[in-house]
Amino acid sequence: MKLVIDESRCKGCNLCVLVCPYSIFQEGKTPNRRGIVVPTLDRPERCTNCRLQHLYGRMLCGVCSMICPDQAIHWEEEKPFEPHRVEVEF
Ligand code: SF4
Ligand code: SF4
Repeated sequence: MKLVIDESRCKGCNLCVLVCPYSIFQEGKTPNRRGIVVPTLDRPERCTNCRLQHLYGRMLCGVCSMICPDQAIHWEEEKPFEPHRVEVEF
């Protein structure tokens, strides 16, 4: 699963920044077109929900989405993994 902030709903209150135990939400720096400074995500794949939601078949943690006053945080299905060639130079 992929963690997503809906920019059209977020008002930049930064409550999500305060509550995430992994500090995935970071205070944003640049205002968007609406003048809202939306938090950025630091390695969101570390989120418990992203990693284990499928395994447990239910929502885990979810504190950020519970505290968000604008229901701006949700998770989306990721596209199937597509293998790609990686070249390593020695
Ligand atoms: S669900 Fe929990 S771990 Fe994941 S981003 Fe939200 S607060 Fe952080
Ligand atoms: S808690 Fe919700 S509205 Fe507040 S900054 Fe985070 S995503 Fe935006």
